[in-house]
Order: sequence, then structure tokens, then C-alpha cells
Amino acid sequence: MHKQDDSVFVPNELRAFSGYYVNQDKLRNSSSGGGASALAEAIIGNGGCVFGVAYTDNFKRAEYYCAESMEDLEKLKGSKYIETDKRVFYNNEYQSVYSLVYQKLKESTEVLFIGVGCAVSALYSYLLSQRSDISGLYTAELICYGPTSQKVSAQYIDSLEQRFDSKIISFTVRHKKGFWLEAYVRAEFASGTVFEEPFYRSDYGYALSVYSRLACYNCRFKGHGHPADLILGDYRGLSKHDVRFNPLGVSVFIVRTEKGNRLMSKLDRTTFCLSTANIDHVLKHNEMYYANKKRTKKREEFGRLLDTEGLHKAVVKCSGRLRYRLKNTTWVVSAIRHLKQLIFFRDKK
Ligand SMILES: Cc1cc2nc3c(=O)[nH]c(=O)nc-3n(C[C@H](O)[C@H](O)[C@H](O)COP(=O)(O)OP(=O)(O)OC[C@H]3O[C@@H](n4cnc5c(N)ncnc54)[C@H](O)[C@@H]3O)c2cc1C
Ligand code: SF4
Repeated sequence: MHKQDDSVFVPNELRAFSGYYVNQDKLRNSSSGGGASALAEAIIGNGGCVFGVAYTDNFKRAEYYCAESMEDLEKLKGSKYIETDKRVFYNNEYQSVYSLVYQKLKESTEVLFIGVGCAVSALYSYLLSQRSDISGLYTAELICYGPTSQKVSAQYIDSLEQRFDSKIISFTVRHKKGFWLEAYVRAEFASGTVFEEPFYRSDYGYALSVYSRLACYNCRFKGHGHPADLILGDYRGLSKHDVRFNPLGVSVFIVRTEKGNRLMSKLDRTTFCLSTANIDHVLKHNEMYYANKKRTKKREEFGRLLDTEGLHKAVVKCSGRLRYRLKNTTWVVSAIRHLKQLIFFRDKK
């Protein structure tokens, strides 16, 4: 096992970088600055392959995908905030993603594996059990807030398809309309209709905020527990006056190992604008690097309602949106009544 040969930096030696795609279309189509895609392009350009997460054709589930060409990389773009099946469709059949990585390494193919911390850790455990030579493996991990259930995405997609009476042909929850951190859901239908709504005000966004697997509230892959060569995330907290700022998105890279350094050196600096970043500033603005998602009392209730009454009712009941709407309606009704009284008294005078 070569993992031990690759020196891991002690925490105060962690290095941080920020960056974004120079090409505006590529930047718009990525979740943050496109750091994951830019690293993937470097590996593909060198004849290697990249394992990342793609939606299934109906957008209801997410699973691994083995990209072997620049065109393949399109499927990986964008964060999928749902749990991922650890399987991959390759050579006309489904197989375990970990065993396909093993086969690729055995064929001496350079591999970049992109995933959340628990998946990267499971990959290393599998490769260790197979006594695999991992000198050709690079791992990149996403800072992780904890995805929600595939039941949420399946019900959300179903409800949109029913509402617009058409199949969805393109879908993202990280569409950039204005400032990149204000993410939108964007669904394009076969009929030509396009639907958009702010992600964090959607049923999907609410579900992400309250409902994850129990393991995500007590995650071992935070702080010193991150297993990958480098960690990728959104660079929040960057002032718009900072020269490294871009309103369309900025990625942050935290390099943990010597191999992570080597991976960074493969980035094409003519197409990706890379700068160094202050690690303390980066961590201060990205608490999910070291902290757990907070579990609220709503989690259990939401899970029960999701199964019994469906996504929308679960959101309405748990978020108190109904109460909010009623409160608003009452306020509007009383304002209209008040206005009518004023007009009535003015006419009487
Ligand atoms: C569930 C989840 C929670 C996250 N929470 C945070 C957070 O709290 N703070 C933060 O800074 N960043 C978080 N991220 C990461 C962030 O959303 C971006 O994915 C990351 O910054 C990469 O953006 P990019 O522009 O470089 O990637 P792009 O170029 O858009 O490529 C996206 C990459 O993400 C991978 N990917 C997409 N969905 C998944 C998934 N479900 N599991 C594993 N890999 C996936 C794809 O394989 C692809 O390589 C989270 C991501 C996910 C999936
Ligand atoms: S929060 Fe931790 S356990 Fe949950 S998906 Fe992310 S890395 Fe895995």
C-alpha cells in the first residue's frame, strides 16, 4: 500500500488555494469555481480516467461514473445533494465503483477519484484489502454538509413532471442566475418549458437542511479525519474587492498530502486562474471542513412524514410554512379592512 509513502502534512502545514475557470461558460456550469472539473481535465488530458458522481438519466438518483474523455466530464459537473449509489455502469453492466478503480489501477491507468470523505475512505479500505498498488491514484474530496435522501430527489422530480406534464431533460440544483452562492434549481422539460426556483427556498433545499443519514451528524471525516489528498469546496467569505473574487464562483483547495501537491501542479494555469489562499481565512468561512451538520428535532418527524405523506406535506408541516402563510394572509386581510375603513371615514367627512 503506497498511501503510507505519501507524506501527510501536519495540520499547520495545510496549504490552501483558490481559483476559477477563466472560461465563463465552464465557470457557470460548475458548482463553485470549477476546481473539480479542472483537475479532472488535467487527468483526462494525461490519458487517465476520473471517477465522479453523475445523475441517473431520470435525475432521481445519483451514482458513480467513470469519465474517460473530456465530453464525459460534462456529466460530473455540479453538486448532487443526494446520497450516491456506490456502483458504476461500465462495459454494459453495473459493478462496484471500488472494484472498477482497482481494475483501472491494475492496468496502470492514472485515476482521479472525486467523492465525499466517507466514500474516499471506503475506497482506500477496499484497495488496502486487495493489496492494490495505489501509486497511480489521486483522491479529491468535497467538503461535505451531508447529502439528503434519494427519496427527496425522486419525489421532487415526480412532482415537477406532474405539474408541467412533461419529462425533465436537464436538471441542476446549483444554477447560477446572479451571485453564485444564491443557487437555483433549474429544470428543463422535453416540452421546452424551463422551471427555476431558489434552491434553499425549495422543498428539496429544505429537505437538505433537515434530513440526512444519522452518520452525517457524527461524521468521522472532518478536521484531521479527512482522508483525501486534497479537499475541495466553495470559497465563501471572500470579499468582492479581493482580486481573487469572481461573482460567478470561486473554488477552494486544501492540500493534505504530497500527492495532493502533485495533483495541483497538473492544473492548466492558462485556463484556470489559481491563487494562494490563507488557510485560517478559508477554514473560518467553511465550518463544514471541521464541524458536523447539526441535528434538529425535525429530522425524525421529517423522515416519518416523507414516507407517509410525501415531500411537500413534510416540508409544509416541519417548516411551519403553512402557519407563515396564514399569518401573512391574516395580515393582508386586516390591512385591506383597515384601508377600507379609512376610505369609508374619509368619504363620510
Ligand atoms: C452533499 C454535498 C455537500 C456539500 N457541502 C459543502 C459545504 O458545506 N461547503 C463547501 O464549501 N462545499 C460543499 N460541497 C462541495 C461544493 O458544493 C462543490 O461541489 C465543490 O466546491 C466543487 O465545486 P466545483 O465547481 O469544483 O465542481 P464542478 O466542477 O461543478 O464538479 C462537481 C464535482 O462534484 C462531484 N460530485 C457532485 N455531487 C457529488 C456527490 N453527491 N458526492 C460526491 N461527489 C459529488 C462530481 O463528481 C464533480 O467532480 C458539497 C458537495 C456535496 C455533493
Ligand atoms: S457528512 Fe460525512 S458521513 Fe455524511 S456523506 Fe458527508 S462525508 Fe459521508
